[in-house]
Amino acid sequence: MKRIAILGSTGSVGTQTLEVIAAFPDRYSAHSLTARSRIDLLEEQCARFGPRMVAVRDADSAERTRLTAGFARGGGQPGPSVHTGVEGLIEAVTHPDVDLVISALPGSAGLVPTLRAIEAGKTIALANKEILVMAGEIVMASARRNGVEILPVDSEHCAVHQCLAGQDPDRIQRVVLTASGGPFRDSSPAALARMTSKDALNHPTWNMGQKVTIDSATLMNKGFEVIEAHWLFGLPVSKIDVVIHPQSIIHSMVEMVDGSLLAQMGPTDMRIPIQYVLSYPERLESPWPRFDITRNWSLTLDPPDEAMFPCLGLAYEAIRLGSTVPAVLSVADEMAVEAFLRQRIGFTDIPRIIAEAMDRHLAASDLTAPVTLESIMAADRWTRTFCEEKLIAG
Ligand code: MG
Repeated sequence: MKRIAILGSTGSVGTQTLEVIAAFPDRYSAHSLTARSRIDLLEEQCARFGPRMVAVRDADSAERTRLTAGFARGGGQPGPSVHTGVEGLIEAVTHPDVDLVISALPGSAGLVPTLRAIEAGKTIALANKEILVMAGEIVMASARRNGVEILPVDSEHCAVHQCLAGQDPDRIQRVVLTASGGPFRDSSPAALARMTSKDALNHPTWNMGQKVTIDSATLMNKGFEVIEAHWLFGLPVSKIDVVIHPQSIIHSMVEMVDGSLLAQMGPTDMRIPIQYVLSYPERLESPWPRFDITRNWSLTLDPPDEAMFPCLGLAYEAIRLGSTVPAVLSVADEMAVEAFLRQRIGFTDIPRIIAEAMDRHLAASDLTAPVTLESIMAADRWTRTFCEEKLIAG
């Protein structure tokens, strides 16, 4: 039995992880669940999955969860222990009984708990890309030091992971990440400026959380994935390319030095990569819907329009500059997307705000200083204040 801790159990990846756990009750159990605001859903999850621990944001949520989750298990069984704040998240993932941690908190909130889980020697199934964008060097160094495996849940990286099975990493020519292109890939520049969060949340192929859906519409999601692939697979970004593939059937490709292109394909269903990381290195017969590739599918691949979608170029620039610049990229994006969702800024303001934050940070910082968790957290705080005061409210 693999006992699983889910950081962010009420989010899109969290709920789909619980579906996978429910499909294989003899193999997996939910040891720890964590939620920030959707306490009702967390209570339902406690009743159904009977976790040993839960972590919530604050004392009020904890009180509610204690009351309902304790009764919910019934049959004289004790309810889960309830913890709060960042310390609570850390307790939920580092408990000695936990075998694998699904790291699926959006934004930078998952960084510290995930680092602590790595230090505790837990296998990490990584669904949160901001962690590697902000602190890839620190996270990967800690994983190596602690002999911890980081398995990518992100469908593109999960695809690359599968393509690389049995391959010599030195023989990789390049990795090609596919992008759906989001809902605006055929829009005019004028139309793009008028797009609302409702338009952007209407993703054509994948069913995901709000933040990642907006990031898909700006292509920042793909920019983050370039940085994520750089750290996960130890490749320079010059060997990581992006193509627009609206059907989302090819989840990504690896070109080897002999010219062979290896691709991983499948339905756009996150339960498949989640199941892959839970069962890795085994493969289990899955109950999810399939598609039949022998039917009349057409696959199109086009280069991205970097002038229309400047976020992709900003991500390449950030990782080339290195140091704390990718952290500024990530946090400025988090702030800008949040402001866009609240209709405080327009769609094309998102890359403008990120670019201004990066420029100002570059002018004020020493990029040759060694990167530490402290310097990343300081860049995080600086970016939040700068974006809110100078760019969003102003
Ligand atoms: Mg992805």
